[in-house]
Amino acid sequence: SAKAKGKNQVVYCDEEMKEQTTKRLRLTNSLYRALDKGELYVMYQPQVDTKTRKVCGFEALVRWNNPEYGLIPPLSFIPLAEQTGLIRPIGLFVLEEACNQLVSFTSQFTERLTMSVNLSLIQLKDSRIVEKIQEILVRTDVDVSCVQIEITESANFLDEPILLQRLIELKELGLSIAIDDFGTGHSSFSRLKTYPIDQLKIDIEFVRGISTGSEKDMALIKSIIQIAKNLGIEALAEGVETEEQLQYLSEHDCDKLQGYYFSKPLEVEAIIQKNMLTPRN
Ligand code: C2E
Ligand code: MG
Ligand code: MG
Ligand code: MG
Repeated sequence: SAKAKGKNQVVYCDEEMKEQTTKRLRLTNSLYRALDKGELYVMYQPQVDTKTRKVCGFEALVRWNNPEYGLIPPLSFIPLAEQTGLIRPIGLFVLEEACNQLVSFTSQFTERLTMSVNLSLIQLKDSRIVEKIQEILVRTDVDVSCVQIEITESANFLDEPILLQRLIELKELGLSIAIDDFGTGHSSFSRLKTYPIDQLKIDIEFVRGISTGSEKDMALIKSIIQIAKNLGIEALAEGVETEEQLQYLSEHDCDKLQGYYFSKPLEVEAIIQKNMLTPRN
């Protein structure tokens, strides 16, 4: 125990914990104001059609640039946003930005693009979430059939009947639904049966296994792609970084690919500059 390690050790731990708590509080306070101050923005990572190797859509990923702390990665502030409930306004902000951006891309380029937006399970618990999402879809005048919601599986919450109800309502709005990080969360075959799912996103962890020669990872990738095929839904591989991974996923008929091999998340200006889309005349 801490006490057994001597008095100095105990004092040291307390100080460190206090410092941690203070830091967290300050970060939380900053996050409260981040939206209003315009410190949050969205980057877009291209998704590629495996057969044509052309960009077929984007995933919207939130970024926080704070004058004091600099660029804070989502993995550091999304959990905080979820704990404080701030993920609700933040998530809706990202959705609205992404829908507006899709409308803008569609007016400038000929491709029929999809836009994927992460939705926290905390947001799905909100009883008015479907209404709020519908408002955004109407306000932005986006082609709803091109918008996809990504949800990550987590323990027990997914078993609540309310979540199934929400997903059905989102489908009724015309949205598509993807399971993010598939295979690493609390996936179960019964949810694949019950939930109205359109896409499985194969987690980066399995894709990494292609490079390290992990037979098990490769077997799981093949199986996930087959499950998607047999269910008549799409498989997309996340975190594709190498030619070897691309080859493997292509050979095994994974529908779509996303990862640094093609592009990291980009700002809109960079997407336009890189000529990855075909301008309208
Ligand atoms: P995610 O939804 O699974 O997003 C994929 C993450 O993998 C992104 O990290 C992306 O930049 C990163 N990534 C993409 N390709 C590669 C690759 O080839 N190699 C590697 N190593 N990484 C790659 P990011 O942007 O830092 O986001 C992390 C997570 O934060 C997301 O994981 C998602 O769970 C969460 N997140 C991001 N934006 C939002 C949001 O607007 N709402 C919610 N609820 N969560 C978000
Ligand atoms: Mg995602
Ligand atoms: Mg993911
Ligand atoms: Mg992930």
